[in-house]
Amino acid sequence: MPQDLVLRFAPSPTGYLHVGGARTAIFNWLYARSSGGRFLLRIEDTDRARSTDEMTREILNGLRWLGVDWDNEPWIQSEHIARHRAECLRLFAEGKAYPCFCTQKELEAKRDVVGEGDRDTKYDRTCLHLSAQEREARLAAAMPYVLRFRVPEGETNFFDIVHDETVFRNEEIEDFVILRSDGTPMYMMAVVVDDHDMGVTHVIRGDDHLSNTPKQILLYEALGYEVPMFGHVPLILGADKKRLSKRHGATSVGEYQSRGLLPEALFNFLALMGWSPGDDREVMTREELVEAFDPRRILKKSSVFDEEKLAWMNGRHLRLLSDEELLSRLRPYRPESLDDVADGYLLQVLPLMRERMELLTDIFDKGMYFFTDPADYDETAARKHWTAPAVSVLERLQSSFAASDFTPQGLEDLVRRHAADAELAAGKVIHPLRLALTGGSQSPSLFDMMVVLGRDTCLRRIAAALERLTPSSP
Ligand code: GLU
Repeated sequence: MPQDLVLRFAPSPTGYLHVGGARTAIFNWLYARSSGGRFLLRIEDTDRARSTDEMTREILNGLRWLGVDWDNEPWIQSEHIARHRAECLRLFAEGKAYPCFCTQKELEAKRDVVGEGDRDTKYDRTCLHLSAQEREARLAAAMPYVLRFRVPEGETNFFDIVHDETVFRNEEIEDFVILRSDGTPMYMMAVVVDDHDMGVTHVIRGDDHLSNTPKQILLYEALGYEVPMFGHVPLILGADKKRLSKRHGATSVGEYQSRGLLPEALFNFLALMGWSPGDDREVMTREELVEAFDPRRILKKSSVFDEEKLAWMNGRHLRLLSDEELLSRLRPYRPESLDDVADGYLLQVLPLMRERMELLTDIFDKGMYFFTDPADYDETAARKHWTAPAVSVLERLQSSFAASDFTPQGLEDLVRRHAADAELAAGKVIHPLRLALTGGSQSPSLFDMMVVLGRDTCLRRIAAALERLTPSSP
């Protein structure tokens, strides 16, 4: 592997950090970290109208949260506009770019004549063919102009890490604009000059940029820069196989964060969107991913964003955390109404709930009964389990529970004994007891849960259920 790899992620702060962007960042980061290279960040904020500081902050926060750290201070593209412009002018001075005086109206009129179709609507090089005299006269008269890059003849070939040998015919590329008439450089130029100045050696990005690459390579060559290695990653699709977008639900990293995803799970999941470690491993730590990463195993095929798989993967990562660690991760998700709940209590709940959690918020959503008495009871469960014989066993159990040692084994023995005395299967008592304690039919091991809830809470809830629920007729 070549030495001193320099990779980068170059988001435009015109929107949130999208999961597709985060995946690009992760691939570049993994490549840098696995090769001992550097990973740089560039904020492409030259579209002043659409870029905001708030979005820049969001993007940086999203990357930090994911654990995608960068070397050096972020490179702010807008601070380098003078340099981009100077390089445009150098191309002009070297005869590799030329001024184009055609107005928007004239260009539109030309397009109307040739009709639709990309190839035909290429700029017809009117201004390339101006005489030197005419050009000088127009410049002297301060006629507004853009600078167009003069696309050379031939073919542009490059080896793409993902798509292998890639060839573009230069005749399909028009003499594109590199400097606007107001003197601001175009995106194409800014990217190339910055990548060169930052020493970028490898560019991994979405394959929506594939058509920009031949133009950029032509610029690298014209400017006398060394061309980096490119890898274009297929896009992420939604379940309907269409490009992932807002229509599919959450697409920003921040939304997944507030939903209760662990950063290491989203990182792992995105790393496997279009890349595979070459074996059947799926749940991988950041270190394992760094260890296994090889850009040659980026897949050529688009990957589908599977929300269920992501939730599953989060559940697997939750299980890798200690109770103490999990407790600290839960902090931002704790509803205000549970502010008073002691950490010690949560530490008792966690071992029971962690196996049933996929999202961090599940402990509060699915396990609300650990914190508050049931407000109501699941009707189907009540109809099924709240029978007259069960009710009379529960009534008798109250005094036994009051006097018991309140250990899981002690409680289980009591329930089984009372059920047997009433000639009922243990389940006929366990289900209604769970209903009384949780309001539903799902919970971790009933007797362990009772110990955590404590005697007073259990007795209070049983009494409330006996009062509020009417036994179903057999
Ligand atoms: N700023 C571009 C984008 O957000 C990325 C440019 C590049 O990676 O070359 O899509």
